[in-house]
Amino acid sequence: MDLGIAGCWALVCAASKGLGKGCAQALAREGVNLVITARGAEALEATAAELRAIHPAIEVRTVAGDITTPEGRAAALAACPRIDILINNAGGPPPGDFRDWDRETWIRALDANMLAPIELIKATVDAMAERGFGRVVNITSGAVKAPIDTLGLSNGARSGLTGFIAGLARQPRLAGRNVTINNLLPGAFDTDRLQSGFRNAAAKSGRPLDELTAIRREAIPAQRFGDAAEFGQCCAFLCSRHAGYLLGQNLLVDGGAYPGTF
Ligand code: NAD
Repeated sequence: MDLGIAGCWALVCAASKGLGKGCAQALAREGVNLVITARGAEALEATAAELRAIHPAIEVRTVAGDITTPEGRAAALAACPRIDILINNAGGPPPGDFRDWDRETWIRALDANMLAPIELIKATVDAMAERGFGRVVNITSGAVKAPIDTLGLSNGARSGLTGFIAGLARQPRLAGRNVTINNLLPGAFDTDRLQSGFRNAAAKSGRPLDELTAIRREAIPAQRFGDAAEFGQCCAFLCSRHAGYLLGQNLLVDGGAYPGTF
């Protein structure tokens, strides 16, 4: 299927690895020009080279910086000639016990997983509406629907973003101008973050890494972890011309892990 977005410009945040990279790869395949960000320049440049090799006609620009800071966002926005597609992503907050979290810890989580995407949306959606096309996808987490107790910072910050998006996506001045905003909720994807989570859990519990990994995998109806490339394909469809009537949704991509009917 031709997604109809060749020649568009996308800003994909936190895209040198994992889910953000999967989204950038899928958009590159569709002929979308990219600005990608990450904190470390080395991995970012390596990913940019891979993306350029996917599609000879696209332009790929890189911005090394922290997307959760005003400076990081300003640099990312300055590198984009225009933004038709915005993929909001950043590292997730650390696990822990809420008794140990002070105000600063909460502010960091809110900055990364709620306020940074809102600021980028604020900077981009009105221009999208003026041009009559725009797609925003926020990478959140399955934890928004089925909270994980040790990830309270993530549950809290991402739920705040989700509530805000539910209202914003339905503003007629955006929805009525072909600007869609959706959240994509990953379950367990085989990325660096998932692997480091397993390593921490194994170290803490003293149980073998393989055993913990197998228990988690077998609890997923699909009997496997997700692949960042397939997450990227779902994201690319949400960004397509065909998905203009699909907005304000929270789409789980989790191999069936969430057990609810709705
Ligand atoms: P990852 O660790 O594999 O990759 C993270 C990417 O983000 C890297 O490119 C890193 O450089 C970049 N990054 C991190 N913080 C950044 C920042 N402040 N500014 C700019 N770039 C930054 O992680 P992932 O597994 O791809 O996860 C992406 C998001 O999805 C995270 O918020 C994570 O919590 C969430 N998530 C992941 C899973 C999963 O199973 N992988 C499940 C649920 C939610």
